[in-house]
Amino acid sequence: MNAHTDENSHEVVVIGGGAAGLSAALILGRSRRRTLVVDSGAPRNAPTAHMQGYLSRDGMDPAEFLAAGRRELVPYGVEVRRGEVTGAVRDGDGFALTLADGTALTARRLVVATGLVDELPEVEGLAGRWGRDVLHCPYCHGWEVRDRAFGVLAHPTMPAHQALMVSHWSPDVTLFLNGAVLTGEDARLLDAAGVRTVAGPVRGVAVEDDRLTGVRLADGTVAGCEVLFAAATRLAARHDVLRRLGAELYETPFGSFVKVDETGRTSVPGVWAAGNVTGPTEQVVNAASAGYRAGTVINAELLMADLTAKADARTA
Ligand SMILES: Cc1cc2nc3c(=O)[nH]c(=O)nc-3n(C[C@H](O)[C@H](O)[C@H](O)COP(=O)(O)OP(=O)(O)OC[C@H]3O[C@@H](n4cnc5c(N)ncnc54)[C@H](O)[C@@H]3O)c2cc1C
Repeated sequence: MNAHTDENSHEVVVIGGGAAGLSAALILGRSRRRTLVVDSGAPRNAPTAHMQGYLSRDGMDPAEFLAAGRRELVPYGVEVRRGEVTGAVRDGDGFALTLADGTALTARRLVVATGLVDELPEVEGLAGRWGRDVLHCPYCHGWEVRDRAFGVLAHPTMPAHQALMVSHWSPDVTLFLNGAVLTGEDARLLDAAGVRTVAGPVRGVAVEDDRLTGVRLADGTVAGCEVLFAAATRLAARHDVLRRLGAELYETPFGSFVKVDETGRTSVPGVWAAGNVTGPTEQVVNAASAGYRAGTVINAELLMADLTAKADARTA
């Protein structure tokens, strides 16, 4: 293991360099806090070529967005290191972290902005089309594919929801039930939305010339569609570090997330969290906003802690 050195000692370590983490780091750097971002380089939206819905950045390449974010940290002396945080324990008033390569770090405060992993349905060929013509979110992609022939792969626990949502973006929607069971109310709303349903198990996606052409059913038939909406089976928040520190989680039908207050404070004193690790609906702009808010509160908290300690020392 590397010996501890000053270059590995920071006021704040931000774990995860996506929108949430970089935004927290930007405001911490501007607040003159010695800040390090450790990032393993696997942001959630990496498979897609365009990032939509971020005011002033609509349609930007997500990789360029993050590269611009990292460049903006340079003037404030914030360091971004490639690496994976694998261990975290409390160390006095702060924390001791370990990276996968054995590097030891210390920090007074932590921001955990590690995002989540979409665990995809086990349908042949689906993973290779993810973020291209297999889509998960109408707010991210709906406008670009409006009025095309949509397929929707039913989610086992909420089979009608996504088909009802995307019916707003196209009048041509087919819901593949793949073993899911509809309630009477589901059927009534799907009918009102003009959504067709196809029963029976789905085997794979059909692709020609690098374009999705349909959904292959178990009986070998192919039902045509140009895009397929499919929700992840589980959204696996990357909260290992937080769990190890004892942070409180909450459950959703898609997986567990880290519980935070309105400033991003977790149940562990000194640890904040922001972005998709805190909830399934955090889009890029929300993640950036949450990171910013956490950064400002951490700075204020450190400032008050240090001033209080100084005042106490004077009056002791
Ligand atoms: C296909 C697809 C398309 C999308 N399109 C859009 C869109 O158009 N518009 C939109 O607003 N949203 C979109 N999203 C959602 C978007 O990806 C998320 O809102 C956003 O990535 C959340 O940012 P984040 O900072 O919380 O997490 P991420 O962007 O996932 O960043 C987390 C970072 O933490 C790193 N990390 C994880 N664990 C560790 C560790 N232990 N140590 C160090 N680093 C670690 C990861 O490598 C990653 O770089 C899309 C999602 C998908 C799946």
